[in-house]
Amino acid sequence: MTALDLINGLTQAIFVLIFLLVFVRTLRHTTPAHIDMSLFFGILAFVVAESRISGFLGVTPPVWFTDVLVALIVALPYVLLRLVDDFTRVPVLLKRGAELFLIILVAAYAYDSLVTPPVDPPIILAVVAYLAGLFFYCGAAFIAASRKAEGVTRRRMQGISLGTILFGLDILMSGIGGVMPEPDKTFLTATGQILGLASGVAFYLGFAPPSFLRRAWQAPELRNFLARAAELPRLPDTLDIVRELERGAAGATGSNARVALWDEDTKVLRMWREGGEAVEVMPGRFIAGRAFELQRTVFTTDPSKEDPADAESYRRSRAGAVMSTPITAGGRRLGVLSLFAERPPIFAQSDMELAQLLADQAAVILESRALIDHAARMKAQEEAMRLKEDFVSAAAHDLKTPLTTVVAQAEFLERKALRDPSSPADLQGLQRIVREGKRLAALVTDLLDAARLEQGRLTAEREPVDLGTLVSEVVARQQPAAHATDVDVRGAVVGVYDRRRIEQLVENLVENAKKYSPEATPVQVTVWQQDGEARVSVRDHGIGIPPTDLPKIFERFSRASNVDDRRFHGMGLGLYICRGIVEEHGGRIWAESEIGKGSTFHVALPLQDGRRLN
Ligand code: ADP
Repeated sequence: MTALDLINGLTQAIFVLIFLLVFVRTLRHTTPAHIDMSLFFGILAFVVAESRISGFLGVTPPVWFTDVLVALIVALPYVLLRLVDDFTRVPVLLKRGAELFLIILVAAYAYDSLVTPPVDPPIILAVVAYLAGLFFYCGAAFIAASRKAEGVTRRRMQGISLGTILFGLDILMSGIGGVMPEPDKTFLTATGQILGLASGVAFYLGFAPPSFLRRAWQAPELRNFLARAAELPRLPDTLDIVRELERGAAGATGSNARVALWDEDTKVLRMWREGGEAVEVMPGRFIAGRAFELQRTVFTTDPSKEDPADAESYRRSRAGAVMSTPITAGGRRLGVLSLFAERPPIFAQSDMELAQLLADQAAVILESRALIDHAARMKAQEEAMRLKEDFVSAAAHDLKTPLTTVVAQAEFLERKALRDPSSPADLQGLQRIVREGKRLAALVTDLLDAARLEQGRLTAEREPVDLGTLVSEVVARQQPAAHATDVDVRGAVVGVYDRRRIEQLVENLVENAKKYSPEATPVQVTVWQQDGEARVSVRDHGIGIPPTDLPKIFERFSRASNVDDRRFHGMGLGLYICRGIVEEHGGRIWAESEIGKGSTFHVALPLQDGRRLN
């Protein structure tokens, strides 16, 4: 036996093996693609078997039988073209043209061989050109399809395209060799045989890859997916998680993937289209809903037939085959993972295991996400409770001090009046009641404002306001005082604001500047326009704010560590409200300060109506 005989034998064995594998699969899943695969490799296996048997028996088959064999071989690329059509799309004109040529060539060949033998070389060459041409076209079509595919499908398509092109070359070599004189004939035939073996191996890897190879091809994508899995539950949005799951599942299976999540409240499955638009699916509807209802994987190679009511949807999303697997964690039904592809043969039965693995992984991720959400909700609730408690205790504490003074003073005056009704009114005592009463009223106002701010409705109607005039008025109202307050207005600064709230803002800042500064130190208020914004600054020469407290002073109930309740009354709401007013106007507020030297509070407000959209 020569080396070429060995190659020939091996090639033939591979083609027969592929036929058997594909045929068994066709019996299990009779899809058009499986039938075409069986036909293609069936013809090859038949030709092989015929040559082996006639060689073994030492008989030459009759001419008509050889013609039938030739016709079958000439039909090979046409069957392959149908297979291309099963995987991707082939123009109708090309299909019809290939059929027509097939008939003409077979008829010409049969006529020549039966009526005017031997067959003329031009006819042989025409047959070879037809075969090779179609094989090359199919090879190119498979390459184009592999580009569009991912993962294992891509590898399989690459195998098939390589096999097809090598097979085309084999036919070209052997065909030309057949009409050549020696020694070219032997050389070309031998090359053809080697190419034939290579194409057999490539076809085997593409059409019937052993499961270990499929797993190996899936492994990188699967590993990528699992590596990302740990981070997924922490993604900000559930939709981000869904998209990542879909991307991972699509990569690992070489198909498209859609995740639908079960909404326990509304009892619907929700999935998201490419653009983010949510689609709700009732359990039982679509293949996904059916898998969810049955709680098992549903695989169909003809979704339109299986679920005619939704045929249009499958057509639109080019789902020629769908595999849906429920995502379930410990009996909790979380959703469905659907894998779909335009053409059925991309899925093998073994993909079901992979789909299950991916769905299990998705379940773990979604469960972790639910736990994280739950923990965050609990934390937020605790935080809200704590804030409420803080709020109540701070408010109670701050209201109690002036209230005690008011009540005690009033009781004292009452007793005095009862004892001696004709005595003159105690002016000082009454003034104390008025002062503390006002403080109380101011505290209550602050508390109400803080509550309004929480609801984002602190500011109301806006009107054009000249900030320079407004600031001057506010400062004049507070004069005379222990501090000289200087106002520097640099030109007209007019914006559209809620006048009352801007007044409150300036009042607060100026009052703080005085409150936290030694007597007789000046306060400087400046109003100007800069970079298209209105600017107000309030500068004092007071106690300053420790750098560590500076970032926190605009928060609710926040007071710096260098102020104590006995020296400086306060609840820590003033700046919080100031920030609320500024931000609702679309502006910014910040402070600069040096401990012991003083502080400057800056406000920047838009000149146009900068209303924040809530
Ligand atoms: P309150 O004055 O009622 O404490 P604010 O919200 O107005 O509340 O101020 C928060 C904290 O910021 C104050 O307690 C104080 O520590 C600090 N602060 C505000 N303005 C000044 C200022 N001009 N100089 C120094 N510290 C200030």
